[in-house]
Amino acid sequence: KYMTGAEIRESYLKFFESKDHKRLQSASLIPNDPQLMFTVAGMVPFKPIFWGKIEPTYRRVTTCQKCVRTNDIENVGRTPRHQTFFEMLGNFSFGDYFKRETIKWAWEFVTEYLNLPENRLWVSVYLDDDEAFSIWRDEVGIPEKKIIRLGKKDNWWGPAGPSGPCGPDSEIFIDRGHGDNCPDPENCSPACDCGRFLEFWNLVFTEFNQDEEGNLTYLERKNIDTGFGLERAASILQDVDSNFDTDLFIPIIKKIEEILGIKYKEKPGSDISIKVIADHARSVAFMVSDGILPSNEGRGYVLRRILRRAVRHSSLLGYSSPFLYRIVETVADHMGNVYPELRQRLSFTQEITLKEEERFLSTLVNGEKRLKSVLVDKKELSGPELFMLHDTYGFPLELVEEIVAGTGVTLDKEGYEREMALQRERAREAMGDREYLSNVEAYSTIFPVTGNSKFTGYSRFEDKSKI
Ligand code: ATP
Ligand code: MG
Ligand code: MG
Ligand code: MG
Repeated sequence: KYMTGAEIRESYLKFFESKDHKRLQSASLIPNDPQLMFTVAGMVPFKPIFWGKIEPTYRRVTTCQKCVRTNDIENVGRTPRHQTFFEMLGNFSFGDYFKRETIKWAWEFVTEYLNLPENRLWVSVYLDDDEAFSIWRDEVGIPEKKIIRLGKKDNWWGPAGPSGPCGPDSEIFIDRGHGDNCPDPENCSPACDCGRFLEFWNLVFTEFNQDEEGNLTYLERKNIDTGFGLERAASILQDVDSNFDTDLFIPIIKKIEEILGIKYKEKPGSDISIKVIADHARSVAFMVSDGILPSNEGRGYVLRRILRRAVRHSSLLGYSSPFLYRIVETVADHMGNVYPELRQRLSFTQEITLKEEERFLSTLVNGEKRLKSVLVDKKELSGPELFMLHDTYGFPLELVEEIVAGTGVTLDKEGYEREMALQRERAREAMGDREYLSNVEAYSTIFPVTGNSKFTGYSRFEDKSKI
């Protein structure tokens, strides 16, 4: 019998407790960090400690952190390994142990507790990290050809945001035996992106700070930050094709099948939509429970975009009524024992979800009609047209992009951005922040809104960071 997601989570945290780590609760998805939109990794709540701004209460910590990454949104449903919401297990050292212990414990956990077959495991290290290389080779005993050296794109982590702690990392991969159309099966390695090798654990040796100009300086003390993806681990241990086929997702997918009246694994096209809905339902449930509300700015905009994307995929599957508010209940049922906030705020989350679904569904029909009429005989959609679709029909640019993908129609995104900027200016002049505030007020009578601070570094963060 395989290990369940819950068993893997508990086994990880127990293992690191046995190595004198303090187990801490997951922090909120809203980071206490003006540079970041979301908690994108287990290390985010500890940034001030890494930075040396505050002293740690514990030198060794282990957590299972809820994470949201928007940079992976296009991958969801298309790769077997990406979601927008996922759980990241991690162990952290604040000026305590460093590379040797980190690598040896990771190996011990993976081979002795998860019982993964050693012959299928590969690792990577940063180009010139000879120290990590020799620990893997000489102390752990991994054959040299299974330790690959990768560059900055793959084996350098961070900073999370425009500046902050970062460093070389070392990743653990499992050989799944085959990939998709591998260009060179004989010499395939974790450097290849055919999907044969699945990365599931990243060990980050955080010893640098990167400033906004990209300059590196040594941090006062060396730290460890690791990220172990729970859903990926479950897919490996349960020997299934994707994160969505693990016990962490099956109940959600079952519910989607039931409500939408469709079958998973019947048509590849529908499967993408089913996976997108399953993932986005988790994101919506967790984001709203953490106090994020749909809006046209910052985090609220991301939530709105994710929620509407799920609804749009349900319409691709031929469904046209609100349903997501029922899926978030399934999410709460199945994850509420680990994340009690899901159950505590369920009725609020459902109310917000339903309202937004209704709002979007009423514009979706009109918007698609409008889009089709605008598209007749067109090679390009202009900035004002894109803005009209967004403003009048609630069609975000991302949605239009998805709809026209493959049709050869191009989009004047710059023109669209100009229109958006103009509108923001008009709104600000006309009424300051009143609309935003009245929105927040309306909701806060039902639920006290926390941490809805305005985010300012959105485009910068999306552009500059690899995460
Ligand atoms: P990938 O290269 O596959 O996109 P990554 O290198 O971006 O992953 P890290 O930033 O190293 O991921 O995060 C640490 C771990 O968190 C990963 O090894 C993986 O197990 C998990 N993880 C990262 N992104 C996702 C995601 N979008 N969905 C599910 N798990 C993820
Ligand atoms: Mg990677
Ligand atoms: Mg990685
Ligand atoms: Mg990634």
